[in-house]
This record gives sequence, C-alpha cells and structure tokens, in this order.
Amino acid sequence: MKAIELQPLGAADADVLEFLSLALRGTFSVPARPRRTSLPIEQFHDEPRDQYNSTAILHWLNERELQRAKHDVLVLGITAEDLYIPILTYVFGEAALGGFVAVVSYHRFRNELYGLPPDQQLLKERLWKVAVHELGHTGGLVHCLFQHCVMHAASSVEELDLKGHDFCPYCRTGLSSRSRQPREELPLLKH
Ligand SMILES: [Zn+2]
Ligand SMILES: [Zn+2]
Repeated sequence: MKAIELQPLGAADADVLEFLSLALRGTFSVPARPRRTSLPIEQFHDEPRDQYNSTAILHWLNERELQRAKHDVLVLGITAEDLYIPILTYVFGEAALGGFVAVVSYHRFRNELYGLPPDQQLLKERLWKVAVHELGHTGGLVHCLFQHCVMHAASSVEELDLKGHDFCPYCRTGLSSRSRQPREELPLLKH
C-alpha cells in the first residue's frame, strides 16, 4: 500500500478528518490525507431505518476508484451518518477483505447518544480504532482473539473502549505478508 486517502461521505467534520489522517499515518507509516470534496450519499439512505447502507456504499466507492485507476491507494470513506447492513442494527464500518476500499462512521461514537457529556477526544480515539480495524481487513486480516488487538471484534462502544488501536504482533506480521486482490473484484466484505 502506497497511501491512504480519506474520502468524506455526506457530513464529515474537517477536524475529525485531519485527526484521523495523522493517526493513520502513524499506524501504517504511509502518507494519509483527506480529500477536499465530500461525496453525497443520499442515494444510499434507507428512509424507514434513517440509516445508510454501507455495503452499497462500498460497491459504489470501489466502482468509482476503478475509474480513477490509482494503483495501490487505499480509500477510506468517512461519514458522520449512521451505517447499517441489512442483517444488523448498525455497523461502525465495513471493508473489502484484501481489497482497496473501506468505510467507517463515527455516528455512534458520540457520548451524547448514551446520555453522557460530549467527549471529542474519546470520539476520535474510537474512530481511530475502527478505521485501523477496517484497513486491517483490507490488508487481508480477519478477527483476532486477543482482546487488546485492534482486530478483535467490537460491536458496541464498551467493547471498542476495551481494545487498543494497534495490531498485536501476529496481526502486524500477517498484515505485511499478504497481497491484495485485483481491484476489479470486490472481495468478501467484513465489518
Ligand atoms: Zn491480533
Ligand atoms: Zn471486523
């Protein structure tokens, strides 16, 4: 992987994008930068659920990136909107396993949602973990049993707060030894 580009989708704060770019640069030791223009995602809005379909967004992002044909650039979509896949109430993110695209939402990382005072630092910390987790999936990693590893599955903010934002030695080794699928095929998706 040569670089990571952060693609704002619908609403996404510039401040959050800047933070995440810096954080990911640190984790993956490659250039990471936010794109300037946000892409509208209204077409993926599900009216009754008032959420956005993350799988559909990933397919669409993959198609768009195919046309740009930038080799070995990972694209991470970021949104403040709430994401879902049909079998789950919500997802924090979703990624193409061994692919080039992933998407994350920080909607559920706001403390206010749980009746607690706002904590922007905690929101960013949670987003960092989920972004590293989804990019780990694009690097071919599956879920890890070690509780502190960033690849450990977390489906609530409580579980998310318990794990770290870095890979355990096994996952770190696995990440550097795998190669990616051709961009034309969107591989299996993982959340
Ligand atoms: Zn691990
Ligand atoms: Zn996962």
